[in-house]
Amino acid sequence: MTKQYAQIIVDVPTMQTDQPYTYAVPENMIDSLLLGMRVTVPFGRRNVMGFVVGLIASTDLPEEQVRPIQQILDLTPVLNTELLNLSDYLASETFAFRITILQTMLPNVFKANYERTLRIIDEVDDDVRDRLFKGLDEIAFKTGDFTEPDMATLLKLRRQHKIDVEVAVHDKAKIKTQLAYQFSDDVEFLEDELRGLRSSAKKQETLLQFILSHLAETWVKKDLQDVIDISDAVLNQAATKKWLMKTKVELLRDPFHAEVKQTALLELNAQQQEAYERISGTFDAQRFQPFLLEGITGSGKTEVYLQVAQHVFEQGKTVLFLVPEIALTPQMVRRVKGRFGAQTAVLHSGLSDGERYDEWRRIERGDVKIVVGARSAVFAPLTNIGLIIVDEEHETTYKQSDNPRYDARNIALWRGQYYQIPVILGSATPSLESRARAQRGVYELLTLTQRAGGAKLPSVNVIDMKETLSRGPETNFSEELRIKLADRLAKDEQSVLMLNRRGFSSFVMCRDCGYVPCDPNCNLAMTLHMDTHTLKCHYCGHEEKIPTICAQCGSKRIRYYGTGTEKVEAELQELFPDARVIRMDQDTTRKKGSMDKMLQKFGNHEADILLGTQMIAKGLDFPDVTLVGVLNADTSLGLPDFHASERTFQLLTQVSGRAGRAKKPGEVLVQTFNPQHYAITYAQNHDYEGFYRQEMAVRHAGNYAPYYYTVQIQASHSDENQAAIQMLKVARWLRLHAKKDVIILGPSPKPIAKMRKRYYFQIILKFKKRNEMDTLLQELQNRAQKAKGDLQLSIDRDPVSFM
Ligand code: ADP
Ligand code: ZN
Repeated sequence: MTKQYAQIIVDVPTMQTDQPYTYAVPENMIDSLLLGMRVTVPFGRRNVMGFVVGLIASTDLPEEQVRPIQQILDLTPVLNTELLNLSDYLASETFAFRITILQTMLPNVFKANYERTLRIIDEVDDDVRDRLFKGLDEIAFKTGDFTEPDMATLLKLRRQHKIDVEVAVHDKAKIKTQLAYQFSDDVEFLEDELRGLRSSAKKQETLLQFILSHLAETWVKKDLQDVIDISDAVLNQAATKKWLMKTKVELLRDPFHAEVKQTALLELNAQQQEAYERISGTFDAQRFQPFLLEGITGSGKTEVYLQVAQHVFEQGKTVLFLVPEIALTPQMVRRVKGRFGAQTAVLHSGLSDGERYDEWRRIERGDVKIVVGARSAVFAPLTNIGLIIVDEEHETTYKQSDNPRYDARNIALWRGQYYQIPVILGSATPSLESRARAQRGVYELLTLTQRAGGAKLPSVNVIDMKETLSRGPETNFSEELRIKLADRLAKDEQSVLMLNRRGFSSFVMCRDCGYVPCDPNCNLAMTLHMDTHTLKCHYCGHEEKIPTICAQCGSKRIRYYGTGTEKVEAELQELFPDARVIRMDQDTTRKKGSMDKMLQKFGNHEADILLGTQMIAKGLDFPDVTLVGVLNADTSLGLPDFHASERTFQLLTQVSGRAGRAKKPGEVLVQTFNPQHYAITYAQNHDYEGFYRQEMAVRHAGNYAPYYYTVQIQASHSDENQAAIQMLKVARWLRLHAKKDVIILGPSPKPIAKMRKRYYFQIILKFKKRNEMDTLLQELQNRAQKAKGDLQLSIDRDPVSFM
């Protein structure tokens, strides 16, 4: 069937253009145009980029409305069928623009540059090279100036010969090449040349001998000169004499420069072995199955991942391995690279566009067997996937906070289903949602209850800061913590101090009883607004004056809460002038690579104390750390969010897990004004299951997840009144059309109510039946698309926070 029309998502991100447009495929493109390629098309009076998402034989549109595609931008599709299907799923899941979704799935390089450059990248067999270059010689390594039939010919050649040549179209600036030499394979000719050499031409002889023993190979100049001592002049001569041919090969940038030690398989303990067998059994059966691997910190989850991955490799399949944030888990990357070496690709947001693009291409070409990466790596163009791992599955970084607001965990599950393979969600403190799914049998629960390698969990002591402060002056350090820190300094052991501070979330707390004022409707901590001197609930909009007397104990010591790492560092230096302190927070780690450096330094024991925000809670594995101090466990309890207890429990458990990972036993001190809070006491006892049960009861009583789905609808407008009026309309429409059991809160201004001259409002929905609501939300989205004007509406499923 000849495909004459293409359906194209154009790069015009507005609500009105969020659907495929039909374009005619010109005669000379019919052979080369494939699904998932990018093209340029006329749109209005401009030319824009677009993605081909459909090819059809006919259209009902009148002839004169269908304009032709202008140019094909890719020689091979940048999105395969799987990823195109995934984009459909994402559109329904995130309510984001199709074009935004498609671009999110690709490295940035594909976003902006529509200029076409053609390169033939890899080495080619000689006869193929002859044919390929016949008539195409001029276009190789030259930009832009070739025609569609050229491309069709190239593609045809590529198919016919199943050649190993890669033809790609991309931004020239993004690709680095290096000089290389393609050796001749004409033995007779080369031997003739060798015989004809003068006896003094030693260098030429060396080169010719080398070529004869590496016939037809391509050698990068640098590598060649490393192996044999040959000058540029001799190489140039050799090229003139046709012993070899000058060429270029692509230089791939290695984004992870650190030295990597090869690591051997460990012998699994009984629990690890059980987990390993369950998961690889599913893989062998070629069946989709999510696993929740619930294992305490240091229980050897990573070893299980790596060994199942090994099993999957041996069957010729690939592995997608997601981590919350690469910068925070350099040790994890090292372990994966140590096991799988050069077949590992690392993808994360800290890469330059060029590095990211290079890694993407290595994956796309099939040079890579395992991809380790943060959230967006879930779109890695791996094919033939046999296993997907989501480490620390409870981390909120898996959810993107901008459009498209996707959750990488859900995409991991989608891809797992697509490939019919196991998906491992691993955590010491699973999200309540995942744990509840395991309870219902949707996920298979696997547990690791002991630390591998024999280390013990640290003992956790809770310090009541109310007592500390009643005894002495304002301080961030209890006497207990000061004594322990001094002890560690004396013994030359290391300590980690966490100050859990959240940017703009400030709240008030009673210094005498630890009471944090909560909103009467939602029972959530209220946020402090100094400009209006009020406390606000950012969930339902409830607002009240800042109290002067504590509602719980009557004390007048109500304090604004929020201490910075800098202040704490100063106090620490005063207490221990000789201690070597590394402070790690957003301010000190802005520079690329600085965090890795700090961690290396601490790992080499060139510092005594690592002081940081929650970024130090994750994944770090330093054997000399025997003390962990949490300066203020309350800050995450004060979050205006129903996840507050969960986050606190997770954070405390995680940071506690940094202590005593090796031979020396560890100890944890948690300072808090709420020593009785269940999130703190369960963390103290390393009791995830206990916490899970109690928190589930709290969620049930409050109609929160996982009993209810939550959706946040937010809208912004340049006019405050208009924003409010439009959102009131939305709320009224929802109240009219939603089933009775749907809870609709708001509209209320967002915690940050004004940003970049726009006003933000939100509506919160809570409901039990997802399908019903999906239909309604889709309709809301469609109506918003048709409405004219300045209002921008976005729908966020299962929001991570309500900021
Ligand atoms: P997790 O990922 O659950 O925090 P890790 O995989 O990092 O745990 O394991 C913690 C430590 O225990 C690591 O130093 C690891 O090398 C070691 N370890 C893991 N499995 C075993 C095993 N089967 N035998 C001995 N040591 C192990
Ligand atoms: Zn409220």
